[in-house]
Order: sequence, then C-alpha cells, then structure tokens
Amino acid sequence: MGPGGRAAAGPNGSIRPMLPDLPPAPLHLDPLPYEARLEPRPREQIDLVVIHCTEVPDLAMARRFGERELYPGSRTGNSGHYYVDRDGSLHQYVAAERVANHTRGYNPRSVGIELVNTGRFPNWLDSRHQAMEEPYTEAQIVALIALLQRLRAELPGLRFIAGHEELDTTLVAASDDASLQVHRKRDPGPLFPWERVMEAIDLQRLQPGDAL
Ligand SMILES: [Zn+2]
Repeated sequence: MGPGGRAAAGPNGSIRPMLPDLPPAPLHLDPLPYEARLEPRPREQIDLVVIHCTEVPDLAMARRFGERELYPGSRTGNSGHYYVDRDGSLHQYVAAERVANHTRGYNPRSVGIELVNTGRFPNWLDSRHQAMEEPYTEAQIVALIALLQRLRAELPGLRFIAGHEELDTTLVAASDDASLQVHRKRDPGPLFPWERVMEAIDLQRLQPGDAL
C-alpha cells in the first residue's frame, strides 16, 4: 500500500482489482497455405479489430473452412487473423500485415479475431435455429483480452473494436422457409461479454455509421 493507503484507487476513488503479472500467452503460428497470396499492407493501416466466432464446433473444422480456396483469381479464402480456442490457446492463421477476408467492406483496415464457438452450426440460416447458446469460456475471454492488449501495443493506429454482427447486418432468406429472413451474420452474438472486455482494453466501439 502506498502513502495514504490509496495506491489502488483510481482517479475517481474507485478501487480496481489488481491483475497479476502473467507472462504473455504463447501465440502459435499456423499460417494458412495461401497466406502469402493475401494482399500485403503496412501495420499503420489497421485501425479496427473485429470480433467473430467460428460457428463451427472446433478449431480443426474452423481450420478446414479457412483453408478452402474460394476466390479463383487470388486463390485465397475466408479466415480471421487470430483464433482463440476454448482452452485459451492462441493461433495466428494470417499475419496482421496481410489483408484477410473476414468482414465485408472492412477488411483492408481491420484484423479479425475468431473465438471457437458452435454458434448456429450446422443450420446457420434456419429460422428455427438462430439462438447462439454456447457461452464463451473464461480461458477464452482472458486470452482474448490479453491478445487485444498486445495488438493495441503493436499496432500504432489501432483505435476501434466491433462485433461482426454490427458491421454486416445483411438479411437473407431463411434456409427452411424463403418467406422468412434471418441475419447472415450473428457473431459474436448475445453471450459475448462486451462490458467486461471494454473495461479491460483501451479501444472504442465502432458504430457502423462512423466515417472511415
Ligand atoms: Zn464473423
């Protein structure tokens, strides 16, 4: 305790819990086979991080989806940059200095973080299956916060954070009944602990109407 016994008090007198000094979690480098074909960019170009969930049951399946070549011209596919598994392990599929395809309209300026979570799998667009019921694990959220703090330190222009569902609000016909519409993207969904994450990091929520 410091002089006056107020060492842990914030500027407005609130007491914030002290976090132990933990070594940074290891980041496993697992580059996608087409990583080198993704467009390069300077780190300074990145001002946004987008939070996703995989909407598949495990990291192995997320990897198979990520490896699929969907764009014949560039022979690349869709993936985030970073994946956080349920046990808190961190995996880098694409370096931040490459543009990954994870959020329509926002890719050149952003990095994408994918949390492993079943989401609506396997009936993503079924109108009767739109709940996102799997909670994120404690290890996942702790690892995510550490990753966000690390990116904030490493990417000089990083300022904003958003959920994929806020940036892509497209409605599409439901797979079970074309007269109904469902959201193409719902991740990270209602169980993502925004309040806790925002308290721990120095980034602003991006409002979809914000100018670039
Ligand atoms: Zn997403």
